[in-house]
Amino acid sequence: MSYDLIIVGSGAAGLAAAVYSGRYRMRTLVIGDEFGGYTSIAGPIENYPGYSSIDGFDLMVNMKKQATDLGIEIRDGRVEDIQRGESGCFTLRTKKGEEYFSNTVIIATGTEHRRLGLPNEKELTGKGVHYCVTCDGPLYRDKTIAVVGGGDSSVKGVNLAAEYAKKIYLIVRGTKVAAEPINYERMKKLGDKVEVLFETEVKEILGSGIFEKVVLSKPFNGSIDLAVDGLFIEVGLLPRSELLKKAGVALDERGYAKADTMMRTSVPGAFVAGDIINLFEGFKQDITAAAMGAVAATSAYEYYKIHGDLCVVHGKSSTDS
Ligand SMILES: Cc1cc2nc3c(=O)[nH]c(=O)nc-3n(C[C@H](O)[C@H](O)[C@H](O)COP(=O)(O)OP(=O)(O)OC[C@H]3O[C@@H](n4cnc5c(N)ncnc54)[C@H](O)[C@@H]3O)c2cc1C
Repeated sequence: MSYDLIIVGSGAAGLAAAVYSGRYRMRTLVIGDEFGGYTSIAGPIENYPGYSSIDGFDLMVNMKKQATDLGIEIRDGRVEDIQRGESGCFTLRTKKGEEYFSNTVIIATGTEHRRLGLPNEKELTGKGVHYCVTCDGPLYRDKTIAVVGGGDSSVKGVNLAAEYAKKIYLIVRGTKVAAEPINYERMKKLGDKVEVLFETEVKEILGSGIFEKVVLSKPFNGSIDLAVDGLFIEVGLLPRSELLKKAGVALDERGYAKADTMMRTSVPGAFVAGDIINLFEGFKQDITAAAMGAVAATSAYEYYKIHGDLCVVHGKSSTDS
């Protein structure tokens, strides 16, 4: 048995694509290893049209329900390989060794957090060093933390952490913070609770078994050591492109998928959607991910209409049950 479409990734892009493919009546499977992707841990989402404010996890649950109501199958799993056979039929293999066949694929694997790349960082992750304020911020009730990063995610992180922490240092490499004005204004309203250290880098992360302090590139209050209870790193994202490489999809110089405006890749029948593409010059949001998902599903549908069942030659027709 095969599918008309398999979508890899159950974030905003993958689930939006599923809603569209469901309406196109494509026999579709979604496989994702972390339900809801980053949106489910992003905290309140206040810029997705139709919702003044909705928790990211709830937004993903709503999208999932909309897709499953249309007959879409959603499974947990990590896809480790995608190969397009001679007939054009794709074979996908999961970490657990399951094998799936599909006429078209949409790869919507998003991004992962960039690390600072410092010694100790990996070893102390989860032991005082974190990458998700929504997930781990509550551990720091009435404590002091530092957030590293100068983008919107770091400022959103500070605003979320302010619900718990008593004091937050935002360590910014540059001379200004590149955040959405509404998020920046919210941070400013936190007053003395937040202190921004501009033109400052984290040079070292220190601690033996448990995080203790960071060493800064320049003194703050007379010292280059900044002792805080927790460190949150929000310094950008890297594309999760391993599967794209395995599938033979052409990448840009930064490792993001190359695609045209219809989300078609260099591999016929393989489409992409969401943060895995750098289509809007680094502007990566739920609305852009969902839009790309809708477009990718439409392209997959058009491709399937033209090429028909390419897996049938393997005796794995999508019309078999
Ligand atoms: C802290 C933070 C706050 C944010 N706040 C907002 C906000 O307020 N508003 C907004 O619009 N956007 C916000 N964003 C951005 C938004 O979350 C992303 O743009 C969105 O998640 C992109 O969706 P995606 O589906 O492309 O990728 P992701 O959400 O990254 O989802 C990728 C999916 O692919 C899965 N996956 C990866 N590799 C595999 C594999 N090999 N096999 C199976 N599954 C795999 C992952 O598990 C996941 O399910 C925020 C992001 C962060 C980090």
